[in-house]
Amino acid sequence: MTEGAGLPRQRLSARVAELTRLCGGISLLRLDPGAAGPFRFRAGQYARLSFGELPPRDYSIGSRPDEALLEFHIRDTGDGGSSSYVAEALSEGDPVGLEGPFGQGFLREADPRPILAIAGGAGLAPMKSIVETLLAAGATREILLYFGVRREADVYLDGPLKALARAHSNFDVRIVLSEAPPASGFRRGLVSDAVAEDLHDLARFTAYVAGPPPMVEATRRLLTRRGLPPARIYADPFFAKAELLPQSGP
Ligand SMILES: Cc1cc2nc3c(=O)[nH]c(=O)nc-3n(C[C@H](O)[C@H](O)[C@H](O)COP(=O)(O)OP(=O)(O)OC[C@H]3O[C@@H](n4cnc5c(N)ncnc54)[C@H](O)[C@@H]3O)c2cc1C
Repeated sequence: MTEGAGLPRQRLSARVAELTRLCGGISLLRLDPGAAGPFRFRAGQYARLSFGELPPRDYSIGSRPDEALLEFHIRDTGDGGSSSYVAEALSEGDPVGLEGPFGQGFLREADPRPILAIAGGAGLAPMKSIVETLLAAGATREILLYFGVRREADVYLDGPLKALARAHSNFDVRIVLSEAPPASGFRRGLVSDAVAEDLHDLARFTAYVAGPPPMVEATRRLLTRRGLPPARIYADPFFAKAELLPQSGP
């Protein structure tokens, strides 16, 4: 049976406390729930955000549950929806509707196994929350974070992640670029292939996976092929709303 997150659903109006536009079209957004907070969630979960009159969209939470501000990594899909609004029009101080928490891809704190966290693009957000929550709690088990993007320009937060790896000998971050030019110094390939190259028997891990649906599915297939029971692979794929709607004929 799937373990539920067991937290009440909240709906409130938060404010933009910080907004930083990073490389690769990613906006790093921090929301302050103010007097309506704290907004309770478990590491790895997501919230539904509403910007102005736009329809709500789901975004994974990148901060730890014990932090006052809620962090989101929003990648501009360039098609004029919520993600473009965040990239182009949102400002510090603006109100944002916040509902949640949602999702099954949250950290199972009672599971003592080594952790394999695999992120594609903005899927780094929930994996960062999981990794930072474990390390802040003093976890000493092995924690491996794979972060896959297309190009060098899409790599973000690599500095803080590498600093975390230097500070914790049980944690390592491995960045993989699917379109790295030869001799760029970056590891090249699909993130699931990098996991396959590095690790042969995965049965000892519990895995958390986040990112676009094809990346999540390719990773899930690899993990099960390499001996990880499906029940120990947790993921909430980043389906776009268009992918969830019934197809309307040719
Ligand atoms: C559980 C969950 C967690 C998510 N977490 C995050 C997150 O942390 N960060 C994040 O950036 N996104 C995340 N998403 C995706 C997010 O909810 C939106 O789908 C995305 O931001 C696009 O919304 P939009 O309103 O800008 O575009 P829409 O108006 O919904 O779509 C506009 C156009 O863009 C296309 N499109 C939509 N999404 C994508 C995409 N991901 N890649 C390429 N084309 C796309 C659509 O097909 C459509 O043609 C998550 C989704 C889910 C289901």
